[in-house]
Amino acid sequence: MAKEQLHGLEAEHLYVIDFSLANYPQVPEIKWPQEIYDEIGDPKRFIKQLRDWDPAYPSPIFEIFQAFESYTFNYYNAVQGLKDELRMIEGEFVMQLLKDNYIRVTLISFNKLEYNVELDLERYPDVKWIFAPETIKQIGNAEDFMARYTKAKKAPTLLDILHDISWAIDKNNRLAFDYKVLVNNVTEAITDLKIDQQKRLITGTINGELKTAAVKFEFIADFSKGYPEKPPEIALTPVGDIDADVLAKLETFVAESGATWSNTSFFLDLLNQIHMAIFKSSIVTCVLCHKLFCPSCDEALFLPKGAKGKTCFVECANCHRPYHKHCFEKVISSIGKCSVCMQSFVGSGKAGETATLTLDFNL
Ligand SMILES: [Zn+2]
Ligand SMILES: [Zn+2]
Ligand SMILES: [Zn+2]
Repeated sequence: MAKEQLHGLEAEHLYVIDFSLANYPQVPEIKWPQEIYDEIGDPKRFIKQLRDWDPAYPSPIFEIFQAFESYTFNYYNAVQGLKDELRMIEGEFVMQLLKDNYIRVTLISFNKLEYNVELDLERYPDVKWIFAPETIKQIGNAEDFMARYTKAKKAPTLLDILHDISWAIDKNNRLAFDYKVLVNNVTEAITDLKIDQQKRLITGTINGELKTAAVKFEFIADFSKGYPEKPPEIALTPVGDIDADVLAKLETFVAESGATWSNTSFFLDLLNQIHMAIFKSSIVTCVLCHKLFCPSCDEALFLPKGAKGKTCFVECANCHRPYHKHCFEKVISSIGKCSVCMQSFVGSGKAGETATLTLDFNL
């Protein structure tokens, strides 16, 4: 009776396998060590030569062990690969081992809402993904979600897929979260807010201040195109008449406001910027520096009605043109006159909080 032994594989997994060819060309008797059954399973399952053994055409014995070696090599590689993948997942997400080869990953989205995804790793690298009902509500069922990977040239890692799921959930939650932040923090400047989750629209009214009169804009913000990576598309409709020049400036501002948008921006901030822009585009600037904000002290020439803060304002007592207080001081100390009407005088401001001019000129 011929007895052979096989020493196989890397040092970590050394198997000593007895086999007998006594009945050759009948299927050889191989005594697989119990640990192979425990670890990898019945070799007949994965060694084709044994499964389909035909005494009329017996396979060479070395092919059996070659097949065994190649299968176990891949198996242990996969085990190592899975270990690496799980370590990466654990580094980023909350992961629990629910039973052998079965994990639950908890994804946390806005407002600390939790979404569970379970992974059946029994047949890794074939992984069965099971989404919890709350997750399905956000992004649909697992099969539909995974369909995107079937055409992928390079198989994504489990972590890649979890990132995609997490991002899809965030994206879905983001609009509701943005709206909540808006409603909880908004001032009287923005009213009549409504959200349409289906159409991904937020509508409302911006109550702007021109220098002399109040102005209202109804807005429609469309979040259906690329949000939150891209800002919502905002359409402003003035309620009542508004200066065409002001409207043009505003539209330019709204069109350009997307440039500062990132996926961590809040819609609230964007609306507040537009509210400020309505004010800015309607007011007269300092006749010396042509700016709203004073180049010396950074305070505004005017503030919207009701807005708190300091202003830097004074007007020429003769022609009533507006200056920053600091700009006026500059022009008086250099030429001693209003730069527009050329009248010499001691200015006295009335309109602004900090408008009292206390210069002592020797005329
Ligand atoms: Zn100025
Ligand atoms: Zn100033
Ligand atoms: Zn003047």
